[in-house]
Amino acid sequence: MAKLFLFDVDKTLVDSCGAGSRAMTAAFVQLFGIDQGFAGIDFTGRTDTAIFRDAVAVHSLDGDFATLLARFQETYYSILPSTLAEVQAHVLPGVPEVLAGLEAAPGAFLGLATGNFRESTRLKLGRFGLYDLFLAGGYADDSEDRAELVAVAIERLAEASGGHEPREVCIIGDTPLDIAAAQANRARSVAVATGFFTVDELTAAGAGLVFPDFSSWQAVLDALLG
Ligand SMILES: [Mg+2]
Repeated sequence: MAKLFLFDVDKTLVDSCGAGSRAMTAAFVQLFGIDQGFAGIDFTGRTDTAIFRDAVAVHSLDGDFATLLARFQETYYSILPSTLAEVQAHVLPGVPEVLAGLEAAPGAFLGLATGNFRESTRLKLGRFGLYDLFLAGGYADDSEDRAELVAVAIERLAEASGGHEPREVCIIGDTPLDIAAAQANRARSVAVATGFFTVDELTAAGAGLVFPDFSSWQAVLDALLG
Protein backbone atom coordinates (compact mmCIF):
# COMPACT_ATOMS: atom_id res chain seq x y z
CA MET A 1 0.00 0.00 0.00
CA ALA A 2 1.26 3.48 -0.85
CA LYS A 3 1.74 5.76 2.13
CA LEU A 4 1.60 9.49 1.54
CA PHE A 5 3.15 11.71 4.22
CA LEU A 6 2.32 15.41 4.00
CA PHE A 7 4.17 17.79 6.31
CA ASP A 8 3.41 21.27 7.55
CA VAL A 9 6.47 23.57 7.49
CA ASP A 10 6.61 26.13 10.34
CA LYS A 11 7.23 24.61 13.78
CA THR A 12 6.87 21.11 12.29
CA LEU A 13 9.97 20.84 10.05
CA VAL A 14 11.74 24.12 10.79
CA ASP A 15 11.65 27.02 13.20
CA SER A 16 12.25 30.21 11.26
CA CYS A 17 12.17 32.22 14.51
CA GLY A 18 9.53 34.65 13.27
CA ALA A 19 11.43 35.57 10.08
CA GLY A 20 8.29 34.97 7.99
CA SER A 21 6.05 37.30 9.98
CA ARG A 22 8.85 39.90 10.21
CA ALA A 23 9.27 39.86 6.43
CA MET A 24 5.50 40.10 5.94
CA THR A 25 5.37 43.08 8.30
CA ALA A 26 8.29 44.75 6.46
CA ALA A 27 6.61 44.13 3.09
CA PHE A 28 3.43 45.75 4.42
CA VAL A 29 5.38 48.86 5.44
CA GLN A 30 7.18 49.03 2.10
CA LEU A 31 4.01 48.68 0.02
CA PHE A 32 1.39 50.49 2.05
CA GLY A 33 3.36 52.63 4.52
CA ILE A 34 1.63 50.94 7.45
CA ASP A 35 3.63 49.88 10.52
CA GLN A 36 2.72 46.66 12.35
CA GLY A 37 0.18 45.82 9.65
CA PHE A 38 -0.40 42.35 11.08
CA ALA A 39 -0.71 43.35 14.77
CA GLY A 40 -3.52 41.43 16.44
CA ILE A 41 -3.93 39.00 13.54
CA ASP A 42 -3.50 35.33 14.38
CA PHE A 43 -0.85 33.54 12.27
CA THR A 44 -0.77 30.10 13.92
CA GLY A 45 -1.68 27.29 11.54
CA ARG A 46 -3.42 29.69 9.14
CA THR A 47 -2.69 30.33 5.47
CA ASP A 48 -0.66 33.39 4.49
CA THR A 49 -3.40 34.37 2.02
CA ALA A 50 -6.01 34.41 4.81
CA ILE A 51 -3.65 36.35 7.09
CA PHE A 52 -3.03 38.94 4.35
CA ARG A 53 -6.79 39.20 3.66
CA ASP A 54 -7.37 39.99 7.36
CA ALA A 55 -4.73 42.74 7.22
CA VAL A 56 -6.26 44.22 4.05
CA ALA A 57 -9.64 44.32 5.83
CA VAL A 58 -8.27 45.74 9.12
CA HIS A 59 -6.56 48.60 7.27
CA SER A 60 -9.39 49.05 4.72
CA LEU A 61 -6.99 48.91 1.77
CA ASP A 62 -8.52 49.79 -1.57
CA GLY A 63 -8.03 47.73 -4.69
CA ASP A 64 -8.56 44.33 -6.19
CA PHE A 65 -7.49 41.65 -3.69
CA ALA A 66 -5.69 39.48 -6.26
CA THR A 67 -3.63 42.48 -7.41
CA LEU A 68 -2.80 43.50 -3.83
CA LEU A 69 -1.83 39.91 -3.03
CA ALA A 70 0.46 39.61 -6.07
CA ARG A 71 2.25 42.87 -5.16
CA PHE A 72 2.54 41.74 -1.55
CA GLN A 73 3.96 38.33 -2.51
CA GLU A 74 6.60 39.89 -4.77
CA THR A 75 7.76 42.26 -2.00
CA TYR A 76 7.62 39.57 0.68
CA TYR A 77 9.78 37.20 -1.40
CA SER A 78 12.34 39.96 -1.93
CA ILE A 79 12.64 40.60 1.83
CA LEU A 80 12.36 37.06 3.27
CA PRO A 81 15.90 35.81 2.43
CA SER A 82 17.49 38.63 4.44
CA THR A 83 15.17 38.22 7.46
CA LEU A 84 15.86 34.46 7.41
CA ALA A 85 19.59 35.20 7.39
CA GLU A 86 19.22 37.50 10.43
CA VAL A 87 17.72 34.89 12.76
CA GLN A 88 18.91 31.54 14.06
CA ALA A 89 16.49 29.60 11.87
CA HIS A 90 16.94 25.87 12.34
CA VAL A 91 15.66 22.44 11.43
CA LEU A 92 13.74 20.88 14.34
CA PRO A 93 15.21 17.87 16.21
CA GLY A 94 15.00 14.52 14.43
CA VAL A 95 13.46 15.99 11.28
CA PRO A 96 16.36 15.10 8.92
CA GLU A 97 16.37 11.50 10.22
CA VAL A 98 12.58 11.13 9.96
CA LEU A 99 12.55 12.50 6.40
CA ALA A 100 15.49 10.31 5.34
CA GLY A 101 13.83 7.24 6.87
CA LEU A 102 10.53 7.89 5.12
CA GLU A 103 12.28 8.62 1.82
CA ALA A 104 14.07 5.26 2.04
CA ALA A 105 10.93 3.29 2.98
CA PRO A 106 9.37 1.33 0.10
CA GLY A 107 5.97 2.71 -0.88
CA ALA A 108 6.35 5.91 1.17
CA PHE A 109 6.11 9.32 -0.52
CA LEU A 110 6.83 12.79 0.89
CA GLY A 111 4.79 15.93 0.33
CA LEU A 112 4.07 19.32 1.87
CA ALA A 113 0.80 20.78 3.13
CA THR A 114 1.50 24.28 4.38
CA GLY A 115 -0.11 27.66 4.90
CA ASN A 116 3.01 29.24 3.40
CA PHE A 117 3.08 30.36 -0.22
CA ARG A 118 5.01 28.00 -2.48
CA GLU A 119 7.92 30.43 -2.95
CA SER A 120 8.27 31.21 0.77
CA THR A 121 8.23 27.46 1.43
CA ARG A 122 11.10 27.07 -1.06
CA LEU A 123 13.02 29.87 0.66
CA LYS A 124 12.42 28.52 4.19
CA LEU A 125 13.26 24.86 3.40
CA GLY A 126 15.75 25.36 0.57
CA ARG A 127 18.38 26.93 2.83
CA PHE A 128 18.56 23.59 4.68
CA GLY A 129 18.47 21.47 1.51
CA LEU A 130 15.05 20.11 2.47
CA TYR A 131 12.79 21.52 -0.24
CA ASP A 132 13.76 19.05 -2.95
CA LEU A 133 12.94 16.03 -0.75
CA PHE A 134 9.24 16.63 -1.36
CA LEU A 135 7.55 15.38 -4.51
CA ALA A 136 4.56 17.72 -4.38
CA GLY A 137 2.73 20.15 -2.14
CA GLY A 138 -0.31 22.26 -1.39
CA TYR A 139 0.24 25.92 -0.48
CA ALA A 140 -1.49 29.19 0.43
CA ASP A 141 -1.44 29.92 -3.32
CA ASP A 142 -3.88 27.03 -3.78
CA SER A 143 -6.49 28.00 -1.19
CA GLU A 144 -7.01 30.27 1.79
CA ASP A 145 -8.62 27.34 3.55
CA ARG A 146 -6.26 24.79 5.08
CA ALA A 147 -8.54 21.78 4.49
CA GLU A 148 -8.77 22.72 0.81
CA LEU A 149 -5.03 23.14 0.33
CA VAL A 150 -4.49 19.80 2.08
CA ALA A 151 -6.90 18.23 -0.43
CA VAL A 152 -4.89 19.77 -3.29
CA ALA A 153 -1.64 18.52 -1.72
CA ILE A 154 -2.99 14.96 -1.39
CA GLU A 155 -4.18 14.96 -5.00
CA ARG A 156 -0.82 16.25 -6.30
CA LEU A 157 1.25 13.83 -4.21
CA ALA A 158 -0.95 10.88 -5.23
CA GLU A 159 -0.39 11.79 -8.86
CA ALA A 160 3.36 12.44 -8.44
CA SER A 161 3.80 9.11 -6.66
CA GLY A 162 2.25 7.15 -9.52
CA GLY A 163 -1.39 7.00 -8.43
CA HIS A 164 -1.03 3.77 -6.43
CA GLU A 165 -4.21 2.43 -4.77
CA PRO A 166 -5.00 1.71 -2.04
CA ARG A 167 -3.21 4.43 -0.15
CA GLU A 168 -2.94 5.74 3.36
CA VAL A 169 -2.62 9.49 3.83
CA CYS A 170 -0.96 11.00 6.88
CA ILE A 171 -1.00 14.76 7.64
CA ILE A 172 1.73 15.93 10.03
CA GLY A 173 1.59 19.32 11.75
CA ASP A 174 1.88 21.30 14.96
CA THR A 175 -1.53 22.98 15.35
CA PRO A 176 -5.20 22.02 15.83
CA LEU A 177 -5.82 23.45 12.34
CA ASP A 178 -3.49 20.82 10.82
CA ILE A 179 -5.47 18.16 12.71
CA ALA A 180 -8.83 19.57 11.56
CA ALA A 181 -7.60 19.67 7.94
CA ALA A 182 -6.53 16.02 8.20
CA GLN A 183 -9.93 15.06 9.59
CA ALA A 184 -11.74 17.01 6.84
CA ASN A 185 -9.81 14.92 4.31
CA ARG A 186 -10.36 11.64 6.23
CA ALA A 187 -6.59 11.35 6.63
CA ARG A 188 -4.56 10.10 9.54
CA SER A 189 -3.42 12.96 11.74
CA VAL A 190 -0.03 13.12 13.43
CA ALA A 191 0.89 16.08 15.60
CA VAL A 192 4.16 17.32 17.06
CA ALA A 193 4.36 19.69 20.02
CA THR A 194 7.28 21.80 18.74
CA GLY A 195 5.03 24.81 18.17
CA PHE A 196 2.67 26.71 20.43
CA PHE A 197 0.54 23.71 21.48
CA THR A 198 1.27 21.05 24.08
CA VAL A 199 0.95 17.29 23.69
CA ASP A 200 -2.24 17.43 25.78
CA GLU A 201 -3.76 20.21 23.68
CA LEU A 202 -2.98 18.39 20.43
CA THR A 203 -4.38 15.14 21.82
CA ALA A 204 -7.56 16.97 22.88
CA ALA A 205 -7.81 18.44 19.36
CA GLY A 206 -8.13 14.89 18.04
CA ALA A 207 -4.68 13.97 16.70
CA GLY A 208 -4.33 10.24 16.11
CA LEU A 209 -0.75 10.29 17.31
CA VAL A 210 1.21 13.02 19.13
CA PHE A 211 4.95 13.41 19.72
CA PRO A 212 6.63 15.97 22.00
CA ASP A 213 9.20 16.37 19.18
CA PHE A 214 10.87 14.08 16.63
CA SER A 215 14.14 13.58 18.52
CA SER A 216 13.28 9.89 19.14
CA TRP A 217 13.21 9.59 15.38
CA GLN A 218 13.38 5.79 15.18
CA ALA A 219 10.22 5.50 17.31
CA VAL A 220 8.57 8.14 15.11
CA LEU A 221 9.49 6.20 11.97
CA ASP A 222 8.21 2.94 13.47
CA ALA A 223 4.90 4.62 14.36
CA LEU A 224 4.53 6.31 10.97
CA LEU A 225 5.42 3.27 8.91
CA GLY A 226 3.90 0.60 11.17
MG1 LIG B 1 2.94 24.96 11.60
